Formats: sequence, structure tokens, C-alpha cells
Amino acid sequence: MKTEFSLAQLADPDIREADKILRACVHCGFCTATCPTYVLLGDELDSPRGRIYLIKDMLENDRAPTEEVVKHIDRCLSCLACMTTCPSGVNYMHLVDQARVKVEEEYARPLSERFLRGVLAVVLPRPGLFRVSMMAARLARPFAALIPSSAKHGVTPTFLDRLRAMLALAPGKLPAPGPSGGKVFPAEGQKRGRVALLQGCAQQVLSPGINQAAIRLLTRNGIEVVLVADEQCCGSLTHHMGRDGDALARAKANIEVWTKEIERGGLDAIIVTTSGCGTTIKDYGYMLREDKAFAAKAARISALAKDVTEYVASIDIAWPQSKSDLVVAYHSACSLQHGQKITQLPKELLSKSGFVVKDVPESHLCCGSAGTYNILQPDIAKRLRERKIANIASTKPDIISAGNIGCMVQIGSVEGAGGTSVPVVHTIELLDWATGGPRPDLLTGSMKGPRFGSA
Ligand code: SF4
Ligand code: SF4
Repeated sequence: MKTEFSLAQLADPDIREADKILRACVHCGFCTATCPTYVLLGDELDSPRGRIYLIKDMLENDRAPTEEVVKHIDRCLSCLACMTTCPSGVNYMHLVDQARVKVEEEYARPLSERFLRGVLAVVLPRPGLFRVSMMAARLARPFAALIPSSAKHGVTPTFLDRLRAMLALAPGKLPAPGPSGGKVFPAEGQKRGRVALLQGCAQQVLSPGINQAAIRLLTRNGIEVVLVADEQCCGSLTHHMGRDGDALARAKANIEVWTKEIERGGLDAIIVTTSGCGTTIKDYGYMLREDKAFAAKAARISALAKDVTEYVASIDIAWPQSKSDLVVAYHSACSLQHGQKITQLPKELLSKSGFVVKDVPESHLCCGSAGTYNILQPDIAKRLRERKIANIASTKPDIISAGNIGCMVQIGSVEGAGGTSVPVVHTIELLDWATGGPRPDLLTGSMKGPRFGSA
């Protein structure tokens, strides 16, 4: 694609980067076929190619984002399916991230929307606040049905539509909190490695059992696990809202505490059990590339970041000899398959664990979760969830496995929110169960795991 940035514009490293990305696009349109919003809405401006044109026009002319441009950028899930499909290697992620920052800085959203986005940006990354807000949302949930819905296909949702969606996602009850930062879980037997495990923000409130399963599996196999003190939310949630000041501050704080931990006891990896966070931490090196004080440290941290399945695949595990007849539909989170290009590994590990693994049709299409998307764009998110659940149901699974808490909430059994009744369990919980850990809470007593029967 031909670009026309001036030399003065190209002096800005972000514009230089945008120019490089835009020039790689040959407008072939292959990406449109796999873009969930184009598949649903059929509007070129809701396709990757359409958005690329809108962003190009906005950046080249140094124009403030218009309502129309914001509408189409907001509808993008940042699922990155377009990056998987693109034959020219267009880095749409870095382009849309830049556009979102411009929107956040230069576009005056309606007051109610600014308020809601502000609340999400403050609450979601803080587990304590998030826990309190989930308890309040649980109390308010019975009234969600009374909130009038104006949600119509193709119309920008109102504040009330979003409030309704937010309440519907609140879980019926919250589990007890897991271990806090500053704890070290020693390796059992001979120590073969040492890793930090990202504690996360929303996940540690909604499903602390995920990280507990990871700790059990890793320590049982000779890996010491550290929950680093003073770690923060990875910044992913605010990064995708265009709030780069917040996201970069969180990235830097994490880089500092992880770097200190490397100097103190060494780390072979920083393990992430929420693939949305993993994609962002693996991008810290890029996000801080122009920051002289942090660029090298950020690149080092990004290189150490590993999805938990990547790391488990790299160590020796005693896989069970027996098989289970439990059918597991593997839901491939966008951040894992498109963001981190991890597609086969989780399925291979589940197969080695003795489960019958099924691929989900249209697995490249997002489930509609996408960080705060299911709150901010409830109509599109709901349609994507329904499509995903129908595709999953066609495999007739006993269990759904996923590697991202956002997807688990979106397609899981949140009463009244249209989720599936099939239990949605994190991949690491199944791997832990199959190799000696307890049965995940969501699975019924009659389900027999590969190694330990109904244990
Ligand atoms: S597939 Fe890639 S090169 Fe083709 S239009 Fe989409 S982004 Fe551009
Ligand atoms: S990130 Fe997803 S929703 Fe956004 S343009 Fe690419 S494929 Fe479409």
C-alpha cells in the first residue's frame, strides 16, 4: 500500500512503524474472510482491510478520530485472526493498538461511556476492587432483566446495554482467594527449574484454581514456582482500551519486580495461564522499544514469557498410560492461536494426558470475549458466543478446554448469560488432573480421568 507520510511525520517512531505496517498491506482482502466482525456484519469498514484504510487516512492526515472511525475501530475484537490469514505479514495488532491510543487521547466519547470505560480501567486490573465489584454485581444481577435493552444489530450499544451485559457476566459465587504474592512453592524431588507464575488480576478472583493446578503440576515435576511480590496486572486490559499510560506503567512495574527476581534466584521462564496476558507480556519488548531505560529489560522479560502449555511441553512429564473416554472440545483462544501462534501444543498435551480431543469447527473465529469487548459491544459478542457454542456443541463434548479466563467466562455456564452447560475447564487443570492432581471443581464425580479414575 502506498503511503504519503511527510518527513516530519516519519520522525515520530510510532508513525514510522505505522508506515512500515501499512506498506506491507497489498489490499488483497484475504483477511476479510476470517474477520469475525466482517463475517457477521458484512461491512468492508468492519473488516481488517477497511480498518487499515481508516487508520491510514487518520494517521496520514493527522486527523482527529471521527465518530465513524471510532465506531469501526471499537468493533474490532483485536482477535488477530487477520494476522494469521494475511500472506504479507501485516502487523495489524501494532497498527490498531496505535489507533486505539489516538482515539483515547483525541476523541471525546459521550460522558456515560467515558464513565463506564473509566470504571472498567480502574476496577478490572485490581483484584481487591474487582472482587468487591463482583460481589456487588451478584446482588444487582436479579435486576439486570429490568434494564431496558435497545440492543439492535449494527447499532452502537447504549450505556444501559453495556450495564446489562456487565451484570450478566457476574458469577453466581466467587471461590476463596488463592495464595498471594511473595510465596515460593518448592520443587518436589530433584529441582529441575525455577519459574515465576503470573498471578493475573481477574483470573485470580474468578478462578484461582487455575494457577493452583499449574503450581501442583509444575512442582510435582521438579519445578520451583515463585509468586513474585508486588507484581501487577500485566496491563493488557488498559492497553486494549488505548490507555497506554496505565498499561506501560504496569509493564514497567512488572519488568522491575521480575528482573529483581531473576537477579535474586534466577528464572527459567515467566509462566502465564491467561493467554490474553501472555500475548501482551510477549509484546513488552515492542511496547517499550523506544524507552532507553527499559527496552533491553523489556525484551528480556518478553523472551522469558511462556504460555503454561509451552513450558509444560518443554519439561519431562510422566504422562498417564491409561486413556479416558472423556471427549474434550479444545477451544483455541484467539490470543493463543493468533497472538502467540500456539495451536497444536495444548491439543497434543491433552491427547498425551489420555483425553479424546476434538477440534471445534470455525475455531479461528473469536468467541466474543476479547477483554472488555463483551461488555462494550454486547450485541456482537453475544452473536459470536452463540455461534461458538453451536460449533462446540457439534463435537458433543463432555468437557470444553480453554487457555484463557475471558473465553471461559464468555462461553461458560454463567446462569442467565446464555453460556453452555458443558463444563469449561482450563487446559492446565485437565493436565494436572490426568497426571496426579485433583479433579477440577466443575467436573462431576462420575467423570473418570485418565489416570486416577474418579479421583
Ligand atoms: S490479508 Fe494482509 S495484505 Fe491482504 S488486505 Fe488483509 S492485511 Fe492487507
Ligand atoms: S483483529 Fe479480529 S476483529 Fe479486528 S480486524 Fe482483525 S480479524 Fe477483524
